[in-house]
Amino acid sequence: MAVQKKVDVVTVGAGWSANILAWKLAEAGYRVLSLEQGPWEWAAPNAAYKHDGLLYPVRKRMMTNIKKESWTWRPHPRAPSLPMRQFGGFLPGQGVGGAAAHWSGMLYRFLPSDFQVRTHVVERYGQEKIPENMLLQDWPVTYEELEPYYDQFEWDIGASGLPSRENGHVLEGGNPYEPRRTLYPNPPLTPGLSSTLFAEACRQLGYTPFPQPSGILSRTYTDRFGRTRSGCLYCGFCSRYGCENDSKSTGLTTHLPLALQTGLHEVRAHCHVTRVEAGPDGLAAGVTYVDDRTGEEHFQPADVVILAAYTLTNVKLLLVSQDWHHPGGIGNDRGMLGQNFTHQMWYSPVVGQFDGRRFNLYMGNTSNTYSIYDFYGMLFDHTRLDFLGGAGIYSTWGEREPVSSAGFLPLGTGKNSQLVSAVENGDPPSKPPRSWGWEWKEALRSHWDNFVPIAIQGDSFAYRGHTFDLDPHFRDAYGQPLLRFTFDWQDDDRQRYRFITGRCLEIMRAMGASAISAIPTLEDYNLTTYKGTHISGGAIMGTDPGNSVTNKFGQVWDTPNVFVTGAALYPQNPGSNPTNTLAALAYMTGDALVERYFRAPNRLMG
Ligand SMILES: Cc1cc2nc3c(=O)[nH]c(=O)nc-3n(C[C@H](O)[C@H](O)[C@H](O)COP(=O)(O)OP(=O)(O)OC[C@H]3O[C@@H](n4cnc5c(N)ncnc54)[C@H](O)[C@@H]3O)c2cc1C
Ligand code: SF4
Repeated sequence: MAVQKKVDVVTVGAGWSANILAWKLAEAGYRVLSLEQGPWEWAAPNAAYKHDGLLYPVRKRMMTNIKKESWTWRPHPRAPSLPMRQFGGFLPGQGVGGAAAHWSGMLYRFLPSDFQVRTHVVERYGQEKIPENMLLQDWPVTYEELEPYYDQFEWDIGASGLPSRENGHVLEGGNPYEPRRTLYPNPPLTPGLSSTLFAEACRQLGYTPFPQPSGILSRTYTDRFGRTRSGCLYCGFCSRYGCENDSKSTGLTTHLPLALQTGLHEVRAHCHVTRVEAGPDGLAAGVTYVDDRTGEEHFQPADVVILAAYTLTNVKLLLVSQDWHHPGGIGNDRGMLGQNFTHQMWYSPVVGQFDGRRFNLYMGNTSNTYSIYDFYGMLFDHTRLDFLGGAGIYSTWGEREPVSSAGFLPLGTGKNSQLVSAVENGDPPSKPPRSWGWEWKEALRSHWDNFVPIAIQGDSFAYRGHTFDLDPHFRDAYGQPLLRFTFDWQDDDRQRYRFITGRCLEIMRAMGASAISAIPTLEDYNLTTYKGTHISGGAIMGTDPGNSVTNKFGQVWDTPNVFVTGAALYPQNPGSNPTNTLAALAYMTGDALVERYFRAPNRLMG
């Protein structure tokens, strides 16, 4: 095995959290190497994005190579696990820039009650409100502590949005539940026509719609480093594609160039890391990786190892890195590694059809929409409700492309979908419409640009038994066990879904749809329908080694020169997108490494 020259810090992966840490550390004078399993082709001068609806959304050109690495799932420990052989439920990204090279840009902060959800529930409703087996725990970091890092990240990437407060005064139109104190650097993106209908309907019902905050530039923006990028063209080829206009902020357009500019940051593409290696003192000595172009194995020594390879690889690498000091894997001395697997309730439970109208939904992106937070998380009264948490509710986004959208037509033919409006009018169809042949063609012709889903993104709480571990039966292309997860929706999830779907129906009725279909009950959890690439947990942060794998800086309790980034750290998954928070955490950890860790290396930071 070839031994490479030692570096101060090695990051596994070169996604956004790695890009941020590389910038912070290289700027402070440390030599940082990022080992990335994918190619380096999504940034100038190599990037050549095409508006190719087969290559990107269908063939998943920017995602992990599933022929080499996959994951297995079982609904409960007595069921057999099976590997995911084609993408469905989630889409881990691959290549320098990570998943953020093709993300959607929805840029939410978690709210104060998300960080202290256990305290909130117990104080307001009592301990008995928490379902048996639910593992509800406060984060070791509060909103107030993270707020300056949210601010810095949002200004560094040129976030777009409407603030709810300025100098302590409440402003009309922003998210009234977000206690932010700063303005956004850019105004919100222009919402589409169907989103405006959604906002009007929400106001009629007494709810408080706000334009969705976004990591996409709404206008030309010059950042504090003097770099200028153009505003969004609403081109409609956004999520799952890279942005040829560089309006969609990613690590490739923001932090990576700053890190490279220092001369102290190196990125090595096509390098798949297989283990973290511990030295005789039990601390990490570096990582082993395979160069995919030659098949050769290398050892990369480093003083600090940062796992920045998305939830799934971060947890897997800790589990497979077993040795005399770490018989159950790094971070597992108290059996906490792999606990708290959570996903996210990302669905479109209600769809409306607006006969005779056109909304131009082929344009735009996932961010030029309206949202309501009136039923988000623990923001509303749960006294009489039989569930915890809630969901953000979103209007329809643009970027409608034919292949995936055709599945919604004719209305009421989707899996478990019912034509609500026909039933309510006392005029149920004698038989359901067909999703093929002339009925489908006719629906596609007449309704492709006037059907409007409402989407939700709900909490996913952790439960005892919802875990990651190593599958004893299936292996990846490198001979290592596949990561297995055990997960199923619980009663609490089903009741939350039913309640939120009821709110979506009210909104759709107020929007005046000609026909409405709904999926009234939550489907069984599966890997075929997309639920968001927001998998979290497995290496959670906490206040002590008895309730977590890492401290609030992602520093592993039992191996203090190993750090974890990303949503693997989240004790439970709030009902909004993860990236703003994991980026803010990376800012906080970067500062802590520079200001505290390197002054007393290999010690836990308090
Ligand atoms: C289609 C899509 C849309 C999304 N939209 C949003 C959104 O609107 N808002 C939001 O907040 N979030 C969104 N996300 C999630 C967002 O992209 C992630 O939260 C974010 O990219 C996570 O950053 P990260 O640095 O933790 O990991 P990643 O960006 O996933 O980077 C991890 C990197 O590690 C590499 N890697 C993995 N294993 C290895 C290994 N063994 N060796 C070497 N390298 C390895 C991967 O190839 C990858 O490049 C979206 C994700 C997807 C897929
Ligand atoms: S919609 Fe805007 S941000 Fe998205 S790819 Fe097109 S120009 Fe870029």
